[in-house]
Amino acid sequence: MYAFQYERAADAKAAVDMLKADGEARFLGGGQSLLASMKLRLASPSTLIDVTRIPGMSAIRMEGDELVIGAAARHADVASNPEVMRRIPALAVLANGIGDRQVRAMGTLGGSLANDDPAADYPAAVLALNAIIVTDRRNIAADNFFKGLFETALSPDELITAVRFPQPDQAAYVKFRNPASRFALVGVMVARTGKTVRVAVTGAADKVFRAPALEQALCAAFTPAAARAVRMDPSGLGADLHASAEYRAHLIPVLASRAVEQALKG
Ligand SMILES: Cc1cc2nc3c(=O)[nH]c(=O)nc-3n(C[C@H](O)[C@H](O)[C@H](O)COP(=O)(O)OP(=O)(O)OC[C@H]3O[C@@H](n4cnc5c(N)ncnc54)[C@H](O)[C@@H]3O)c2cc1C
Repeated sequence: MYAFQYERAADAKAAVDMLKADGEARFLGGGQSLLASMKLRLASPSTLIDVTRIPGMSAIRMEGDELVIGAAARHADVASNPEVMRRIPALAVLANGIGDRQVRAMGTLGGSLANDDPAADYPAAVLALNAIIVTDRRNIAADNFFKGLFETALSPDELITAVRFPQPDQAAYVKFRNPASRFALVGVMVARTGKTVRVAVTGAADKVFRAPALEQALCAAFTPAAARAVRMDPSGLGADLHASAEYRAHLIPVLASRAVEQALKG
């Protein structure tokens, strides 16, 4: 690992100002992705700007009908937060299934979204729940946030400060996980709000995506059988040593049907 400076930002403005002053600096969340890439010499930031101690950035609270989670909230805190468990239990379950205990103790919501690993769990929740990503300068709708492989709508010096989650009527997340990394080989989040159903799939392609065929089928009948009857086209899906595109296409409706089953149980 190369030598680097460490700075602790006092507030969001100070963090962004530091990054604007030094284009080689990077924000530091839990370090669970960034430090690994530094050790592999894939990244060599001049300065790490720690944003996890910014007052209020780890807060989890209700604002009106929305659950607002600070970008520096650790996965373990989301998993065990009573408000999350009460308002959107699927989100607590998802956070509790990320990596291992050590990763959950350090990794943050904002870091996960900014990193945008194609097999990460939170992007599926953010997209299916139609959340808003709040940054130091704007609000970004989930539908406009995930742009491609490790690529988001964020500018290089833009800081995620929180995520606003509307409360769904029913939701659930089910992943078929890689037993070694625990990332999603495929993960499916299903969320129903009134007559709208949103389905987001992670792990299956170069970025998280919505599945319109599943959404239409589940709008017509919110049942496990309706999800299972959908056939996914494998073209465009990822293939690697862990799974073929056809296998991932097969898994998507299977996991969606299990998610619907869980969502119906509440
Ligand atoms: C062994 C292992 C297993 C894992 N398994 C899973 C898994 O099963 N599912 C899963 O989803 N993830 C998994 N992860 C990834 C984990 O969730 C990380 O926590 C996450 O990818 C990055 O979050 P972080 O807070 O550690 O960010 P960091 O590593 O600190 O930063 C990642 C990137 O985000 C930027 N960044 C950080 N915070 C912000 C912010 N507030 N605003 C803007 N940019 C920011 C950084 O500059 C950097 O570019 C695993 C990681 C490991 C090491």
